[in-house]
Amino acid sequence: MQIAINKAHFPVTVLGPGRRIGLWLQGCRIRCPGCVSQDTWADDPGRRMNVAQLLAWCRRVGGAGFDGVTLSGGEPFDQPQALSALLAALEQWRREAGLDFDILCYSGYPLARLRKRHACLLARLDALIPEPYVNGLPLTHLWRGSQNQPLVALSPRGERVYRDFLDAPAAALGKRLQVQVDGERLWTIGIPERGDLAALERMAAERGLRLDRVSWRQ
Ligand code: SF4
Repeated sequence: MQIAINKAHFPVTVLGPGRRIGLWLQGCRIRCPGCVSQDTWADDPGRRMNVAQLLAWCRRVGGAGFDGVTLSGGEPFDQPQALSALLAALEQWRREAGLDFDILCYSGYPLARLRKRHACLLARLDALIPEPYVNGLPLTHLWRGSQNQPLVALSPRGERVYRDFLDAPAAALGKRLQVQVDGERLWTIGIPERGDLAALERMAAERGLRLDRVSWRQ
């Protein structure tokens, strides 16, 4: 089974508790105004890879220990079959290796729609952050971009891991963004506050760095 991936990173420390494997799926049909990940929108066949290859990468980077996997995008539920295959592979790894990592997934679809159309996928997740990003609503809660987005525990593991974070304020853990430099590319990971990315662009310009293409504008 093939899955379209925008990027993968480890460790991610700003999208869920602990040190996490972060997987961003490519393709999103929702297109929320103000989305900061517009580079993930296009359905790009060049970004497809085998789920087995992706899992091999996860096993390699997670070998020294990690706490969870965060799936984001893009819109993971726009690739339901690939998402199903990935979740099955992660579950198998967790079971066979005797690990206890949690799986958190973001989606821009409403929770009611996901429960109706994708109950089988939700049954394989430990926690979900659903609902579209709404640019006019403030960032109030940890790991969420706008106030309308809940954090929903979906399994006993999810209840245990996320119990203390369900209503946690945005600043509960301090750091909101990770910045990675990869050759000539600069990645931001996490949930920016309004104005954070413009500030990053200004700071880069002050140091003589011009950001040619950014994911938060087309
Ligand atoms: S915020 Fe998420 S769901 Fe909304 S357009 Fe961006 S990637 Fe898609």
